[in-house]
Amino acid sequence: MRQTLIALSISAAMVAIAGCSKESEPVAKSPAAEQVSESVAATAPVDNVLLAEWSGPFGGVPAFDAMDIAALKPALEFGMAENLAEIDKIANNPEAPTFANTIAEMERSGKSLSRVFTYWGIWSGNMSSPEFRAVQAEMAPKLAAFSSKIIQNDKLFQRVKAVYEARNDADLTAEQIRVVELTYDEFATNGATLSGEAKERYAAINNRLAELHTSFANNVLADEEGYDLFLSEDQLAGLPESFVKAAAALAAEKGQSGKYAITNTRSSMDPFLTYSTKRELRERVWNNYYSRGDNGDEHDNNAIIAEILQLRDERVALLGFDNYAAWRLQNRMAKTPQRAIALMEAVWPAAVARVHEEVADMQAVANAESAGIEIAPWDYRFYAEKVRKAKYDLNSDEVKQYLQLDNLREGMFYVAGELFNFTFTPVEEGSVPVFHEDVKVWEVTDKTSGEHIGLWYLDPFARSGKRSGAWASMYRDHTTFDGKETVLASNNSNFIKGAPGEPVLVSWDDAETFFHEFGHALHFLASNVSYPMLNGGVRDYTEFQSQLLERWLSTDPIIDNYLVHYKTGESIPADLVAKIKQAATFNQGFATTEYLASALVDIKLHTTDPTGIDPDKFERETLNALGMPSELVMRHRTPHFGHIFSGEGYSAGYYGYMWADVLTSDASEAFAEAEGGFYDKEVAAKLVKYLFAPRNAIDPAEAYRLFRGRDAGIEPLMRDRGFPLPGEKSEGTAAAGE
Ligand SMILES: [Zn+2]
Repeated sequence: MRQTLIALSISAAMVAIAGCSKESEPVAKSPAAEQVSESVAATAPVDNVLLAEWSGPFGGVPAFDAMDIAALKPALEFGMAENLAEIDKIANNPEAPTFANTIAEMERSGKSLSRVFTYWGIWSGNMSSPEFRAVQAEMAPKLAAFSSKIIQNDKLFQRVKAVYEARNDADLTAEQIRVVELTYDEFATNGATLSGEAKERYAAINNRLAELHTSFANNVLADEEGYDLFLSEDQLAGLPESFVKAAAALAAEKGQSGKYAITNTRSSMDPFLTYSTKRELRERVWNNYYSRGDNGDEHDNNAIIAEILQLRDERVALLGFDNYAAWRLQNRMAKTPQRAIALMEAVWPAAVARVHEEVADMQAVANAESAGIEIAPWDYRFYAEKVRKAKYDLNSDEVKQYLQLDNLREGMFYVAGELFNFTFTPVEEGSVPVFHEDVKVWEVTDKTSGEHIGLWYLDPFARSGKRSGAWASMYRDHTTFDGKETVLASNNSNFIKGAPGEPVLVSWDDAETFFHEFGHALHFLASNVSYPMLNGGVRDYTEFQSQLLERWLSTDPIIDNYLVHYKTGESIPADLVAKIKQAATFNQGFATTEYLASALVDIKLHTTDPTGIDPDKFERETLNALGMPSELVMRHRTPHFGHIFSGEGYSAGYYGYMWADVLTSDASEAFAEAEGGFYDKEVAAKLVKYLFAPRNAIDPAEAYRLFRGRDAGIEPLMRDRGFPLPGEKSEGTAAAGE
């Protein structure tokens, strides 16, 4: 039931693949479920290209050159019907349930639909169009209903349960036991263990929650669209030229030619607050943005939040859990809300202390300018930028000249060769179909044995119809239980193509992101698991491997051989690299505190008895109790916190970004301390064996202990952010890099 999981979490998966180095905004949730059409032909449409078995080299590859949007809807309908028929057959098997006739058969099912989802992913991410979005809108509720049908199939669940209960006496391998447990959990956490009235109530709650999540998202959207600010030319002081141009184009698009539109979104708000010298406008933009969903009008989200929290609490009570967070975290690496809270509260005091230092630095700048102000939340970005310029002025154009896209890619291949023993070889042009001429494909083989590992597709450049940002995706999982299937992995970015013959130069941030996404691809390619289920991700763990790989960008062999000037061929100067690293600790008080405030409020909302809760009051009281500095706010205030209320993808899970950061910093120190540094063969072998190859075949906490010999500690993260360690005093502590 590989695709069941995909479909169940279609919106969640979109977040997961896009989440990546920079935190992503959540994708709007699919509409509420409705019935799957039963009038589906029983036989495959013979010439449907999206359903066809993959042919060609390397165990078959997707027919990306023959994709036809007209085939998508019939392919999905057939794929779902075929999968439901497979599931019915498993559920109604007259033989006693066994791993082979139940769990393995479920893992085997849904292959056609899984192929269709590969093409779906290309249309939704790389090649979107109005035609695709129409199919998507029509099919999303049908896909949700399809998933529910499988999860609510009681006969199927009874068989899964029987195998689960006998799992330790059934002569299964450790991997097979893990598949059984994950499968059982998938059903149990979604209400399959309930019966009678409880089951009905559970389903009713889910339906109501789906409506509320959609209303929440729509209200935020309404407040983002309803507060455009149209400026005149004399209100643009301080804004960069590129921003002004974009604002002019936006205003024209909205029928206000000659004006400049500041939209009520992060991408407008953030640069406006950083650069505008008009303080009263900054205050207005800040207020509009942080009041989304909280304006006391028809788009106010407070009542919706209260109802969501109460329903979530009631639903997990049916399953025997004390609170929503306890239910949510049972399968996460953190395991309990208490552990997630403990981590955040350990970092919090240092982050707040750093905010006070940052504010003092900024106040000094304002005083020196005789600005006559006290730093307010709408001043933070503006004065932080002035401090940054004075303290760490990095010329980003200078840095870019050492960051050529092709060289970065070769550098990543070098890292993969050293750590994973992989070789990347371009496939012969035209031998593997691609969906756009920009997409290039490499074969990945083992450097020693020459064994075929998989293919790596790279779609590097921006184009219309392609989603923004960078992401990694998998077209085919590594599995061996049913004959070996090799990995088809892809990386996708939005670099701007250079002029013909000119190298593509990128920023340091973009170079880090490029390495980050490659980390996801290596995580896919390194898989040695037998069953599709085990390739699944764990929310607070899957960003760790990719974040870790970013660290190799600034290792010596990469600096010396790949970060070379595009004209002179000289390596990037050491002092420039030092400057870049030092600048990374800049403004960490702000970034860490605004993030932690959101993450703490999230988990506290989901561990508190929500009876009669007033979300605004709860937020205010929680932040007061924490000692939130008055000069900044939560990164996402409760009334527009889409990660946790537009769906359940990150609810009680926003802490996960920091959880992965802790692992990243701690694992990175394992290399830094090793004799061979970041290329130490022994640590690299452990990295691949315990942290990459097992995917989800080993409990992540146990896998980390196997790698490190202990649990991760927070000290490395504190050092990376330039924070004093717990017990140390803030004042006079050297920042990292000094
Ligand atoms: Zn990522």
